[in-house]
Amino acid sequence: MLWSDRTIRETAMKIHVDPDKCEGHSRCYALAPELVDVDDFGNAYELTDGVVPDGLEEKAQLIVDNCPEFAITIVED
Ligand code: SF4
Repeated sequence: MLWSDRTIRETAMKIHVDPDKCEGHSRCYALAPELVDVDDFGNAYELTDGVVPDGLEEKAQLIVDNCPEFAITIVED
């Protein structure tokens, strides 16, 4: 069980929002408020250090695909 838990953590999906590319459309927040929040200017940032909780992997891919600035990327932790 311990080995399994560690394996999951080692392959956890994470997202990253590049603040230099984000233009504050808030589209990602509208689609996945569980994964990102926005500041007062609408610029997005990752919640929970970007870690994508189990079951939200498709939403993570959705916001990657729908960011018009290509500001969100998926990284493997
Ligand atoms: S959709 Fe892209 S550009 Fe718009 S707020 Fe989200 S990360 Fe920024």
